[in-house]
Amino acid sequence: MNEWLTVGRHYLLTKYGRNWRSREELLQWQERQVRRHLRRILPKSAFYRELAGGLSAERWREFPVIDKRTMMAGFDALNTAGIRKEQAFATAFAAEESRDFSPTLGGITVGLSSGTSGHRGLFLASPGERMAWAGTMLAKALPGSLLSRQRIAFFLRANSNLYSSVDRGAIRFAYFDLLDPLERHLDRLNEYRPTLLAAPPSMLRMLAEAALQGELRIRPGKVISVAEALDPLDERYIARGFGQPVHQVYQCTEGFLGATCRYGTLHLNEDLVVVEKEWLDESERKFVPIITDFRRTTQPIIRYRLDDILTERSEPCPCGSPMTALDCIEGRCDDMFYFPSAEGGGLRPVFPDFIRRAILAASADIEEYAAVQHSPQLVAVALKLPESQREACCGQVRRKLAKLCAGMSCLPPEVRFAEWDAAQRRPGARKLRRIERKFQL
Ligand SMILES: [Zn+2]
Repeated sequence: MNEWLTVGRHYLLTKYGRNWRSREELLQWQERQVRRHLRRILPKSAFYRELAGGLSAERWREFPVIDKRTMMAGFDALNTAGIRKEQAFATAFAAEESRDFSPTLGGITVGLSSGTSGHRGLFLASPGERMAWAGTMLAKALPGSLLSRQRIAFFLRANSNLYSSVDRGAIRFAYFDLLDPLERHLDRLNEYRPTLLAAPPSMLRMLAEAALQGELRIRPGKVISVAEALDPLDERYIARGFGQPVHQVYQCTEGFLGATCRYGTLHLNEDLVVVEKEWLDESERKFVPIITDFRRTTQPIIRYRLDDILTERSEPCPCGSPMTALDCIEGRCDDMFYFPSAEGGGLRPVFPDFIRRAILAASADIEEYAAVQHSPQLVAVALKLPESQREACCGQVRRKLAKLCAGMSCLPPEVRFAEWDAAQRRPGARKLRRIERKFQL
């Protein structure tokens, strides 16, 4: 019962409790939250105490910025539950192996982020944080009220106590393992008839195609894309398959960072985290977020630089929220392309979104694409489209990329084309990345 109250309280607070009249008011409130949070955290986390180097909570914006590598290296001293990294990994790996995601470490939920082996992140949450997360997530994602009957279908690579904690009251929660075969998913979904469907876009697109072919017969009230960046191409297919706009939840091991409003605009969750912007290109409104979560205490996240590139929306959202609105989560910094400068003197960065737009502008008939940069001089593009259009489309892609490079004073790369390999979009083992850089700078 106590747990249920925590969920309810955070649900209500998120949904109705915070009405900032202006962005200014929101920022002032955030500042107070961070300071109060740090006064609680610093005595408990040796890692952050050392990082702060004697600076007071008021001067938190001067704390050094950390990233995944620093956080994982200092994991034992960073978390406030006294959990050692080896213990946490052992628990998380055992859960992945057995597909039983319920064990905890002394009550603390342990999760693993996806990522290449050796670069996987760990996630810790206390029972209280789990309930707070559930309440906040339900407030932001649920189409109706907390009391209306809902059946949530959640597709993930790994389940977690975190997710099953929303299974209560009128709300049913079913976990779908991304590693299961599609036929099994279709049978289960047709039986379960979810009112809310949340899955990575690669899976949503397969489900949308099954819906168009009549194999999937569900009518969810809301469809949410999670865990992978939502490509405009996939968004189109998914929206058509389910006959409704696609919503998004932006979440990673580092926190619950954003959700779409009723207009479908993605807003940063500035009621949970402060997002400092490290501008990559201010005129293009592109930045890397540095986040400070003022709620998580078991695994505090203070001035943590993510590897994502976000594009701020140019127009204010009609919903009137004072929280930053985004055009898109465009991809990872590591997937920024680099071409030789036409004026000599090194390489110039090109945003993944520019590459994406150049390719999609080549033909309206492109069904699938992937672009991999193997070296500053070589880009491989895989395309799926009607065979009769292939030749013309490849020529167009080459011209569009050359034009993009010319506009940025870069030398155009050699472009090699390949057939689309359906294995690239098989959900589960690997996240779908349509724009990928494969060489180190
Ligand atoms: Zn909005």
